[in-house]
Amino acid sequence: MRFCPNKLFTKARNLIGIGLASSAAVSAAGASSSTSSSADTSSTYTTTTTSDSPSSTSSFPVDSSTDDDQRRKLCIIGSGPAAHTAAIYAARAELRPVLFEGWMANGVAPGGQLTTTTDVENFPGFPDGVSGSDLMDRCRRQSLRFGAEIITETVSKVDFSKRPFRIFTDSRTVLADAVIVATGAVARRLSFDGAGDGPGGFWNRGISACAVCDGAAPIFRNRPLAVIGGGDSAMEEANFLTKFGSKVYIIHRRDNFRASKIMQGRVLKNPKIEVLWNSEVVGAYGDEKSGGRVLGGIKVKNVVNDDVFDLKVNGLFFAIGHEPATKFLNGQLELDPDGYIVTKPGTTMTSVKGVFAAGDVQDKKYRQAVTAAGTGCMAALDAEHYLQEIGTHEDTSS
Ligand SMILES: Cc1cc2nc3c(=O)[nH]c(=O)nc-3n(C[C@H](O)[C@H](O)[C@H](O)COP(=O)(O)OP(=O)(O)OC[C@H]3O[C@@H](n4cnc5c(N)ncnc54)[C@H](O)[C@@H]3O)c2cc1C
Repeated sequence: MRFCPNKLFTKARNLIGIGLASSAAVSAAGASSSTSSSADTSSTYTTTTTSDSPSSTSSFPVDSSTDDDQRRKLCIIGSGPAAHTAAIYAARAELRPVLFEGWMANGVAPGGQLTTTTDVENFPGFPDGVSGSDLMDRCRRQSLRFGAEIITETVSKVDFSKRPFRIFTDSRTVLADAVIVATGAVARRLSFDGAGDGPGGFWNRGISACAVCDGAAPIFRNRPLAVIGGGDSAMEEANFLTKFGSKVYIIHRRDNFRASKIMQGRVLKNPKIEVLWNSEVVGAYGDEKSGGRVLGGIKVKNVVNDDVFDLKVNGLFFAIGHEPATKFLNGQLELDPDGYIVTKPGTTMTSVKGVFAAGDVQDKKYRQAVTAAGTGCMAALDAEHYLQEIGTHEDTSS
């Protein structure tokens, strides 16, 4: 993360839901019915929209009427690095995948979590960094280039009880022999004065939900930082941040951590970490030297005596968990107690044969773009083997 004006564009896009290269779809979303060519000349991308839903299709047309079922070999649900990597591999294997990229699914624009950040500096191949939106725009164009069909609709439910599987949006039903679920997760954020993306908010200007992603940014180097949380992630993030910050506060609502003893031990022994027990953040304000553009400090309330005090920190990291996007599955895949899809170790296979999962929706440990992309590749290869096994490799879509 680096402070840059580009962020305003990303924020605006997330608010109004402009989906990366699908800006053509968005601009047409208000029209009653239209087909337009995308400005993206690197692909044969055309969009079709209806007045009812901001949908777009590309590569080859799909009838969006509810009663016209569409049969596909492979359906991919999601639009982050996992989904697009799966789409690129599957399209190159001539599986003609259809990918539902969502329409502000769980409040995130098509392209996924990276569209909510500025610079990504740890994705291989970009020595100078790349903006999260640019990276995802490139992934999307690469999916299209190899013939993936992208539909800008959110999957509302699935039926994995019979084959072919059924995937439903508000306006269509797709039948698929194999499915890859890559719907990601959403980092939980707290809401208080100064926490937001809008004017007066310091999200991405000192406040972040990913220490591993953002901790090394220059605005945090040798500065006091704070982490909110009391679980293993909070412990891990706080320890990690001591490499960069001059001091790290852990702010926790209770008087004990729920993190594992070993993780707690590491934190409590670290001389750069101080724990503020029974405390919560109630406000954030700007740094005077920067003209208030980046975070300068926070207001912390002691929840026992209601005293509010000022804490000068230049970075604040939420480590209060993630919400995997699995509700639409309605219990049809095995999930762990935190709602993540359970996969067979070393594979992307789920509890239902022919359904695979990739990316953050099945990974609560690493949660990085490159690991999401890696499992997206695995899911496409696993799906291809499965389709070969069941003998549907010939085109069943027409
Ligand atoms: C602020 C921030 C900064 C980050 N910075 C970095 C970084 O610098 N480097 C790094 O490696 N990682 C970073 N990460 C983590 C990284 O973004 C994630 O690990 C990665 O995006 C996960 O990819 P994914 O493909 O699993 O899913 P996601 O990126 O979560 O995308 C999933 C997509 O699926 C869509 N979707 C959800 N449900 C449905 C549905 N029912 N139908 C259709 N579509 C649906 C969502 O709209 C979403 O767009 C950051 C994360 C955050 C929040």
